[in-house]
Amino acid sequence: MRTWMPGIKPGMTMLQVRMALPSEIDVAIIGAGAAGIGAARALEGKGLSVLILEARDRLGGRAYTRELENGIVFDVGCGWLHSADKNKFVGIAETLGFEIDRGRPHWSQQTYNIGFPQKDREDYLNEMDAFYDRAEAAAKSGKDRPASELLLPGNRWNAMLNCISTYINGVELDRVSILDMNAYEDTEVNWRAKRGYGALVAAYGAPCPVAFDTKVTLIDHSSRRIRIETSRGTITAAKVIVTVPTNLIANESLRFHPALPEKVAAARSLPLGLADKVMLALDDDGDALPKDGHLRGSITKAGTGSYHLRPKGLPAIEGYFGGRFARELENAGDGAMAAVAIDEIVGLLGSDYRRKLRPIASSAWEHDPFATGSYSYALPGHAGERAKLATPLDGRIFFAGEATSPNFFSTCHGALESGIRAAKEVVGAESEIAAGR
Ligand SMILES: Cc1cc2nc3c(=O)[nH]c(=O)nc-3n(C[C@H](O)[C@H](O)[C@H](O)COP(=O)(O)OP(=O)(O)OC[C@H]3O[C@@H](n4cnc5c(N)ncnc54)[C@H](O)[C@@H]3O)c2cc1C
Repeated sequence: MRTWMPGIKPGMTMLQVRMALPSEIDVAIIGAGAAGIGAARALEGKGLSVLILEARDRLGGRAYTRELENGIVFDVGCGWLHSADKNKFVGIAETLGFEIDRGRPHWSQQTYNIGFPQKDREDYLNEMDAFYDRAEAAAKSGKDRPASELLLPGNRWNAMLNCISTYINGVELDRVSILDMNAYEDTEVNWRAKRGYGALVAAYGAPCPVAFDTKVTLIDHSSRRIRIETSRGTITAAKVIVTVPTNLIANESLRFHPALPEKVAAARSLPLGLADKVMLALDDDGDALPKDGHLRGSITKAGTGSYHLRPKGLPAIEGYFGGRFARELENAGDGAMAAVAIDEIVGLLGSDYRRKLRPIASSAWEHDPFATGSYSYALPGHAGERAKLATPLDGRIFFAGEATSPNFFSTCHGALESGIRAAKEVVGAESEIAAGR
């Protein structure tokens, strides 16, 4: 019986795993994000040696929790357990003793009604519902178009609908496929893990055998055994599960030999949109603001922040930016996002907040070489590419990652499910070999 991973056991330190890369393995998984971890956990006990090759020095990929001062938990990547009533991470959290905060998000509210009176909010929410109804009706025709074509010319809420798209899709509506947007399954139940979503994903991945600081550069599948070139040497595998973000397949920072032009084309049709966050510590009377309050920076611009006041009751405000505006702010360098966030909050809550707010952390996902963006969207006309990217090759190379999920793409639980699906495909291919097919 082959072991889970000879020589590498659950509980080993990263240093131990850094010391030796085995020369061969049954299944190599590229990437220790939710998808890679999902695949590795699903392969436990299947009699296969498994190793995750991870470029970073940590688990989780785009799921990453940092603990900041005063107990402030910062989910640098995913924070919300979306579609929580169907999200496998909820059960995992319960098993691992992670407390779930079942409080609903306040995205559609505006604390104190500042700058966004209730009457206007109702008007906007009606228009948003109508927009998504039009999208559903348009998707039924089966013909794909940019989602921006569903905006009503001259409607006062178009900028806000575009802004919401930058948060949901990481891009403005002119880049988004109507068919893909409509395929997303949103049950509108959104919860949080109190200790952080990234911490939950890392805890779930803790038993997995991982070689950290191991960047894969080439997957050579020209021979019977697959040769994987990494920054720490070469390893061969019978099967490979690729879970890296689409942009890294699209720009061929991870290459295949022979080349896989169909996979590269699919990945290019599913680029990563951009979303970034900034965490501001709230000094002085932090309690004056309501727990889990919410403010929208502006209701007339697509480029504006969404502010979560005292998230989980913590003395902080978390700002969220998306799309072109997030890119501008990332490119403007350190402090640019925090400066905009503070200006917008001061504009709403008053000049006292310039003294009370202090930037303590922010993200820059586009500049992160192992992500180069936040989550995938499908370009108009390319909704079908998720299935193409997900399709295994020759029963030897398998593809997972959030972008391959048919209904929960762009999310962490979608990534997890895709990894489980790829693991099942690997086991299925093994049984076929055993049966001599
Ligand atoms: C700001 C932000 C907010 C988000 N909010 C939410 C949210 O609230 N809810 C939600 O569900 N989702 C959210 N997401 C999306 C979610 O984080 C991702 O969809 C999910 O974590 C992706 O998992 P994955 O395994 O597909 O990819 P990743 O997590 O990116 O994992 C891929 C792994 O591959 C590694 N890798 C890359 N290249 C190589 C290489 N050449 N060799 C070896 N390893 C490599 C990477 O380091 C990474 O660890 C958010 C993301 C961001 C950035």
